[in-house]
Formats: sequence, structure tokens, C-alpha cells
Amino acid sequence: MNIRAIIQKIKSSFNHQEEELSNEAVLKFLRVLESVREEDASCDEVYAKIDEYVEKEVDKKDAAQLMPLVREHLDLCSECFEEYEALLDILDKTSKEEK
Ligand SMILES: [Zn+2]
Repeated sequence: MNIRAIIQKIKSSFNHQEEELSNEAVLKFLRVLESVREEDASCDEVYAKIDEYVEKEVDKKDAAQLMPLVREHLDLCSECFEEYEALLDILDKTSKEEK
């Protein structure tokens, strides 16, 4: 998603009505957007789903397709990504030992 393009769109739509309003309105909107995104996939939520995600990946299922919010969060959050890599490493070794 291109945040810059969205802001530009909002700005121009506000400019048609009332020019002075635009910056403040955009800032307010961005804050709402941020809080929504945090709720979308917080670290806690992702942590709770990481093992499920990694299991899918080890099973050669398309984990990113099945759980796009987790994938998106892993791209953005290095803490969760480290947790994911560690789990992947463990599960990978475990599944090889089983065979
Ligand atoms: Zn995180």
C-alpha cells in the first residue's frame, strides 16, 4: 500500500473544501490509520500465531498466502522476525530428524 499516494489523495480532497484544514486533518487521519494498523497485527497477536505460521511453512504450504497479516508484520518487525527465524530453525531440524 502506498501511504504517500493516500495522503496526497486525502490532501487534495480536503483542499477542494477548505485549504487550512488539510494538514491537521491528514495528521488526524494518519493517527487513526496507525492505531488501526496496530490492532490489525500487533506483536502479541503475531507471537500467538507464529508457530502456526512456521508449521505451515515447514509443511510447504503457502504460509504467506494463508496468513498475510503475519507475513506483513514479519516484514516490518525485526523482533517478531527473529522469533520466527528461531522457530523455523527448530521446527526445520525437528521435521528432518523425524524422517
Ligand atoms: Zn512484532
